[in-house]
Amino acid sequence: MLLEIRNVSKTYESESNKILALDNINFTVEDNDFICIVGPSGCGKSTLLRIIVGLEKPNSGEVFFRGEAIEPDNPKVAMVFQNFAIFPWLTVQENIELVLESLNRPDEKKIACKYIRAVGLDGFEKVYPRELSGGMKQRVGFARALAVEPVLLCMDEPFSSLDALTSQNLKDELLMLWADASMPPDAVIMVTHNVEEAVYMANRIIILSPRPGKVMADMRIELKRPRNRKDPEFYRWVDKVYSLIV
Ligand code: ADP
Repeated sequence: MLLEIRNVSKTYESESNKILALDNINFTVEDNDFICIVGPSGCGKSTLLRIIVGLEKPNSGEVFFRGEAIEPDNPKVAMVFQNFAIFPWLTVQENIELVLESLNRPDEKKIACKYIRAVGLDGFEKVYPRELSGGMKQRVGFARALAVEPVLLCMDEPFSSLDALTSQNLKDELLMLWADASMPPDAVIMVTHNVEEAVYMANRIIILSPRPGKVMADMRIELKRPRNRKDPEFYRWVDKVYSLIV
């Protein structure tokens, strides 16, 4: 088992009110899982992901990574954000080298180049983010996350601000990396509100209820790969997931 989410609950408190965002979440993640967490807006998907990577603490419950309590600086876990979160004053290459420096990796230039190539950005090493399209910025986000060679890659709606064609290409490239045993990551957890995207990518879909988020279903998607959106079987799975979302 790679990850265990055990009895996780989260309440946000302000002076005037209290919001129960997550209510007793339990599930485990295996080494080769590609898990999509879906559910209506505001059901706690992003909160759950931030807790999983250790960026936020639950009020009760725990997250274990290979049996140990998760820490925010675990180098085996990387995160890709919806809004890219790259530094505008650094080039593509410098953005990636920066995370490697913080990990004290001696061969940072070589590793940065390897992952710039893996996401199809070769030739753009010296370019600044303002000169890149949204899709290319997100490629930098992926390269930076992959360069730490994480076992677990966590992604919060990474495709939602990209056009359809760019996002389709990036999804297929990411699936290839996930399926390639010689490249990171082994496991992926992705938050999305897009059911079709989840059925296209995941081997397991976890459906959260409207707030407070509870696990309503944890289903295995038994569709062979590569998946075809035009296949009637694909649509049966999409309908099945929709039927379980409140
Ligand atoms: P989702 O990702 O499913 O849209 P979120 O995890 O962003 O949901 O939010 C779940 C609930 O928790 C929402 O009602 C949101 O307003 C609330 N929430 C999220 N983050 C905070 C925060 N930092 N402070 C207060 N409330 C928050």
